[in-house]
Amino acid sequence: MTVLDWLVKSMRRLNEAGVDSPRRDCLVLLEDLLQKDRSWVIAHADFELSAKQTAHLDKQIGRRIKREPLAYIRSKVWFYGRFFRVTSAVMVPRPESESFIEIIKAIKPPKIIDIGTGSGCLAITAKQELPDSEVIATDIDDKALVLAEDNSKRHNTKVRFIKGSLTEPLANEDLSGFAVLTNLPYVPDGLITSKEINYEPETALFSGKDGLNHYREFWSQIQKLDKKPSYILTESLEQQHEPLIGLAKKSGYKLTKTDILVQLFEPSSS
Ligand code: GLN
Repeated sequence: MTVLDWLVKSMRRLNEAGVDSPRRDCLVLLEDLLQKDRSWVIAHADFELSAKQTAHLDKQIGRRIKREPLAYIRSKVWFYGRFFRVTSAVMVPRPESESFIEIIKAIKPPKIIDIGTGSGCLAITAKQELPDSEVIATDIDDKALVLAEDNSKRHNTKVRFIKGSLTEPLANEDLSGFAVLTNLPYVPDGLITSKEINYEPETALFSGKDGLNHYREFWSQIQKLDKKPSYILTESLEQQHEPLIGLAKKSGYKLTKTDILVQLFEPSSS
């Protein structure tokens, strides 16, 4: 079967299954298999795929039809110009979270902590983009930490990983000067934003009726810290931005910037 025949057939299968981007998904799987870039694949529509190659691709399309995220099928995802290994132990990094990186690149904080790092993409990208900054990453989940450390090694990045819940592992650290990045779970319980979300760890996504349980706990922990971080960056749904400004205010922080879904907070007194 040629690349073109396989593409036509598979795009139709994905389309019928209601997948958003059949063409992109099929091309990406071809690129991975053939180890070529998109322009090569498109220019070689008459390239003959072997039976083994077709079987491999068909199996991947079968998974995608069941709405498994493409990132899990490929075992990797592209984030801010780099590939990260992902498994179903962690949430798939989303492009909107690249705003965290844009904001910290403008601030250039000497110390950065990523709370709930998952695949490690924020912490590792932060270290790559700001090599002079010290970067710490935490997660409550062992499997996520193993994966994040593996990603850090693959990128040859020096990030310190610590296991623990929210700010607890940092309770005794002097956090002044630190930028805390955190993309905590914020999806309201029962809100299924896409079928793909069913494959992702619930603990990484959902956070109570209004989706704010984790952020409420986070801000109350921040309130109790002696030496508070100089910057706090959080991601949430747009309709959660106002309530989060309220939570931050109670903990002594004011909003200083918003970049799509990411909010930047700084101490109110400074
Ligand atoms: N942006 C993700 C989604 O809508 C949720 C990420 C999160 O809960 N931190 O599926």
